[in-house]
Amino acid sequence: MKCPICGQETTWQNNPTRPFCSEKCQTLDLGKWATEGYTISGNPLPELDRDAATDALADDSQQ
Ligand SMILES: [Zn+2]
Repeated sequence: MKCPICGQETTWQNNPTRPFCSEKCQTLDLGKWATEGYTISGNPLPELDRDAATDALADDSQQ
């Protein structure tokens, strides 16, 4: 099989860093996911503000 990071041929059996060819490629993949997760986690705050504004409008219409 091939390493998904660099495309080099790598073995599955007795390979602690599978499916990657080396610890270096494994670290690169983890870093890629960590960067994407950080970008996503920055988004939810505006939605919380919008929900608070909606609750305030609902209270006004009931009075
Ligand atoms: Zn590799």
